[in-house]
Formats: sequence, structure tokens, C-alpha cells
Amino acid sequence: MEKQLQDLKQQLEKQCVINQELQRQNKDLEQRLREKEKLLQELHTQYHDLEFSCPNSNETEPEFRKSRAAVIAPEPIPEGLEISHTRVKKSVSETSLIVKAIQKNDFLSRLDDEQIAMMVDLLRASKFKPGEEVIREGSEGDSMYIVADGDLIVTQAGRDLRTLGKGDVFGELAILYNCKRTATVKAKTSVHVWCMERQTYRTIITNKSKKKREQLMGFLKTSRTLKDLNDIQLSKIIDSMEEVKFQDKDAIVREGTEGNTFYIILKGEVLVTKNVNGHQKMIRRMGKGEHFGEQALIREILRTATCTADGPVTCFSIDKEVFEETIPVEHLELFDDSKEMQEAQAPEKSSPSSYLRFKDLVPVLYQEGRYQGDPVTLGIGGFGRVQLMTTINHGKYYAIKRVSKKQIVAKRQEEHMLFEKKILKVTQCDFIVKLYAAFKDTRYIYMVMEFCGGGEIWTKLKEIGRFDEPTAMFCTACVVEAYAYLHKKSILYRDLKPENLMLDMRGYIKLVDFGFAKELVRGQKTYSFVGTPEYMAPEIIKNQGHDFAVDFWSLGILIFELLVGSPPFSSSEPQKIYAKILDGVLKYPPYLSEAAKSIISKLCRPRPGQRLGNTKNGIKDVRHHRWFSSLNWHKLRMGQLDAPTVRLVRKGPCYINFDQFPQDHSKAEEEFSGWDRDF
Ligand code: ATP
Ligand code: MG
Repeated sequence: MEKQLQDLKQQLEKQCVINQELQRQNKDLEQRLREKEKLLQELHTQYHDLEFSCPNSNETEPEFRKSRAAVIAPEPIPEGLEISHTRVKKSVSETSLIVKAIQKNDFLSRLDDEQIAMMVDLLRASKFKPGEEVIREGSEGDSMYIVADGDLIVTQAGRDLRTLGKGDVFGELAILYNCKRTATVKAKTSVHVWCMERQTYRTIITNKSKKKREQLMGFLKTSRTLKDLNDIQLSKIIDSMEEVKFQDKDAIVREGTEGNTFYIILKGEVLVTKNVNGHQKMIRRMGKGEHFGEQALIREILRTATCTADGPVTCFSIDKEVFEETIPVEHLELFDDSKEMQEAQAPEKSSPSSYLRFKDLVPVLYQEGRYQGDPVTLGIGGFGRVQLMTTINHGKYYAIKRVSKKQIVAKRQEEHMLFEKKILKVTQCDFIVKLYAAFKDTRYIYMVMEFCGGGEIWTKLKEIGRFDEPTAMFCTACVVEAYAYLHKKSILYRDLKPENLMLDMRGYIKLVDFGFAKELVRGQKTYSFVGTPEYMAPEIIKNQGHDFAVDFWSLGILIFELLVGSPPFSSSEPQKIYAKILDGVLKYPPYLSEAAKSIISKLCRPRPGQRLGNTKNGIKDVRHHRWFSSLNWHKLRMGQLDAPTVRLVRKGPCYINFDQFPQDHSKAEEEFSGWDRDF
């Protein structure tokens, strides 16, 4: 017995030791597993960074957009400036220095050959003495410069950054818009520069783009196949066409081969020949404005002749496939979803505007925190401050946007302010913020809007990093509905970004901020430089004239930013953003679904005419894309869907979904010019 007990005890002890050993091994394994996991995570981030870093960039900038995007307000373009007045003759060596400088520059090198040629023509000579300032940090820029001779020094906040010499470019962003200079540039020696003002550049490029479109319209109108199309349709075709270049003796089309492209000659001459008994017989010679291959657009044909470039030739071309996407052959009805829209947007029965008086509005105050007792500010934008107010009588909340009149005049935004109010006043769409009333005094204008209590999508996105696909899809679908409403009323929005998407308490999205919206006749183009850099379409940057297609481009950027947490083309330097947009290379992280990648790529097509939403079925094609396959559009319009975004909306004091801002004690100056007479 004693012995047995002893044995058992020994066995137990042995077992204990084994157990302890096993536990130790287990711990060891766990530890190793944790280390492996950490390593895996690190590798994953590195892989992710690799995936996302731009191939030719050595930037150290953060890839994720941390700050709110800066906006660029359009400025009026003077009419009728003629190129002949501003062209400056240059020697061969001068031209070569300028061309080399442009080619070396990240942003300028991505402009069209024609725009570069124009730039070379327009640059004028200017001189600076040693010590003289060329541009000053903080001032508003209006010119760009290329150093022809001498040295300059660049300083920022008093610190020397670098020197510039012959062939260097600086201040180039100023040819696009009135940006603030980020550094001071001073002549070190006696300096010669080539310079160009934005007004000159933009006016001439704009006029040239307009003339080019008119000319192309004229060319298209001479085509028998296209003669029945109206101007809007022809304009759409132009938006889908692409420039192609041929060398001397290149065969552009070959007799007997299958044809599927239509060409217009923009530059150079083309020889038309036919095979007769084994010999090429010359039929005719074609020049600028003439076209060939039109039959290929409407039927399957074999080419009946050969067209060969005689010297270098530039053509504008469109493929049958793209043509069919652009123009419905049977009938052209871009938006026929009007009935559905009207159903969804039955006006509210009692609009508060009828009884709302400015003096009845009182500010809502912070209940706790560091600003306790101060009025609640919901947001501060480029132009104004939005405050939370309520009425004593019925306790409904309102968001009041207050903008200084003096500032509006200083920034030449009178038209935009009036338009924002005009649009919002007549808008009856559940996906667009409602404007109940507008007031003004000697210092400010006020817009009394529906309060979107759920806060900005921007804030939510920054809180959780990125949205899952159902959430992003829901947000996008709300924007699509807002677009359908606006575009049908011939209004383009032009300022899509997470900062301008607000959530209501149910998690439905509403578009706010119509400062850049514009009314545009279908088939026409507008030429202002406007928007938020990360969201700008290439045709805006190139100043080629833009239309409704820019809203679809920005929709693609939005989907990307919602899913990834940062827009696809980003950098801390705007010119790098523009260069990336013009390159148009989209890089998707591995976790995006095929459907998401497909819709983004289709919305972010560089040619506006080929962009999803802007082809023949219009916005319907966006709704029908497979990314939205699980969405019931009708229920969305009726507000009957449970929004996945609702989990982002916090419950608590009415301002809980907003950042908190200190009170503004300053008072804007009075302004009496009278621009707001009709406000
Ligand atoms: P921007 O610099 O974008 O042009 P802005 O001065 O035109 O700005 P808005 O974008 O209209 O101003 O508004 C600024 C901010 O105020 C918004 O980003 C949002 O946070 C908040 N805001 C605006 N409208 C509302 C609203 N109806 N309900 C709640 N918050 C709002
Ligand atoms: Mg805004």
C-alpha cells in the first residue's frame, strides 16, 4: 500500500513536471506565434506601402489624407484676349532652354504638346537685380517663372531651402489658380527669367480650347453618317474621341481589313489608295478637317481603301465600341428616370420657411466641456461658419451658415453665393440639404438649413479609417440620387468629397455646400478652375472645358477614398496631385472587391465621353453597375432601407457628432456694394 502510494506520488510528480514542460513549450509557441503575427503585420504594411507608393516618387509624405482638403474657388476669365498680342518671339536656344525646363518639371511636362507650345510662345522676359524679391511667401501668386540666367535663393519662414539656376521652374501652380506662395524667391545675382501670368495663360488656353471644339464640331457636321445628330450629341462624340499620331508612311487603315475606327485629320495629309490589279492606285489626298472610316461606326465593314500618312499626321479618332457607348443609335434620352424621382421627392407638407423669422432663432449652447456655455459651431469652411440654432417656440434645430459679405467680395464669390442660395431654395431632394430661409445684414449673409445631426462623413471616415463595402456603397448610392436630381435640373455639383457629405440621424446622406455648383446647358462646357485638388478631373486641370462628366470622375475618387481611407491621387504638394491625376494610374489595395475596382476604373476614365455616367444611358449605367447589385434603389429613394451608416451616428447631445469649435468673437466689416440685393 505504502509502496503503491509512493509509486503513484512519483508518477504524479513526473506528470506535473511533464505538464510544466508542456506549458512552457506552449507559452514558447504562443510567444513565437505572436512574434510571427507581428512580423506578418509589418510585412503587410510594407507591402501595402509598396503597392501604393508612386513608382517615380521619392516622397516621404504620409499617404493618408489627414487634413481637410483645401478648396479652389473659380475666378472669372476675361473675354477676348488674343494670342497675337501676347506672343513673344524667341531664339532657337531660348526655346530649347524653355522646352527642357518644362520637360523636367513634374506638373508642366504632363500638359499637352499644344499647351506646352502655347506656353513657350507666351512666356515673356523679365529681369531682377541682386537682392530683389521675385515672389514672396504668403502673397497670392499670379505668375510662373523659368530661370533663363542667374541664381536665385528660395527661403521659407526665414530658412534657406535651396538655390535655383538656369533652367529651373518656380511658381508654376500660379498658372492654374490664385494659390498662396509657400516660399520666398529672391535674386542672388542679376537674373533673367521667362515669366507668364495666369490670366494670359488661362484666357488663351480657354479660347483655344473653345475654338478647337467649334472646329471639331464643324468637321463632324460634314460627315454624312453623323449629319442627323444634334450639337449635344456631337459634343459627346468629341468628348469620347482621342488624339492619335502617325509617322510618315504609316498605314492608318488597310484595304480589306476589318474596320472599326473613324478618323478626323487634325494635322498633316493622308493618301488614299486602292489595289487595282496588284498595284496601289492613288485615289485622292486628304487634309485637315477631312475624315475617313465613318461607315465603320455603324456597320461591320471591310475597309475599301488604304489610307497612309504622308508626313507626320495627327488624327482625332473614335472606335465603334466607344461610339455605341456614346450615342444610342435609336434615340437619345439621357435621363428618363424623372418620374421615379418626382415620386420620391414629394415636397414636405409644412415647410418651416413660411413662419421662420430670424429674430426667433437662438443659438444652442455647449452643455459641458471646454466651451461650455458658448454657442455651438458645427463647422468652419473656406467661406464661413456654420452654427447650430433653434427656435424658442417649437424647438427644431437649424444649421445656420454665416458668411462675411466683405470676404465674399474680396474673393469674388458673389455669383457663387447667390447661386448657392438660388439652387438650395428650389431643391426638393431627400439627398440634398434643405434651405429654409436666407437672411442678411450689413456684415453677413445667413442661410438657415436643415440640421444634419449625424455629422460629416469626413469625421466618421477619419475615426474608423476606412468603410466596408456595404457602407461605402450606401453612401455612394445617396450621392448618385443627389446627382440624378441635380443633373436633371442641369446643375453640376463640382465639390464632391467626404467633407461635404452630412449624415442625418437615420444615417442617410445629404449633400451640403453648393458654393461651386453651376447651371450648364447640355452640350456646353465651362472653363473655370474649380474644386478640390484630389477630386479634380483631368479636363479641369488641362483647361479643356468641362461639364457633367466631372461629377462622375469625383464619384470614382469618392468611392476610392471611402473604401481606402485616402483618395487615389494624393500628395502634400498640389502640383504632384495634378501630375498623378494626369497620369491617371489607379492602384488598388488587395482588399478591394473586383466590382469596386471596376466601378472606380470606369468612373475615373480620363476621356470624359467614356466615363461611366456620361455615356449613352447616363446615370442609369452607374445604378446598374454590379457593385450596386444588392441595392434596392426604389427603397433607398423612399427612405425605406436600413442605412448601414447608422452605426456611425452617436446618440447624445445634439452636437455629439461634431468637432467642437471656440466661439468667434470677431465681427466682419460692413459691406455696402449691394451685390446681395436679391439674396
Ligand atoms: P468649404 O470650405 O467646404 O467651401 P463652406 O464655408 O462653404 O466650406 P460648408 O461646407 O457649407 O461651408 O459648411 C462647413 C461645415 O459646416 C461642413 O463641413 C459641416 O461640418 C458643417 N455643416 C454645414 N451644413 C450643415 C448642416 N446642414 N448641418 C450640420 N452641419 C453642417
Ligand atoms: Mg464644405
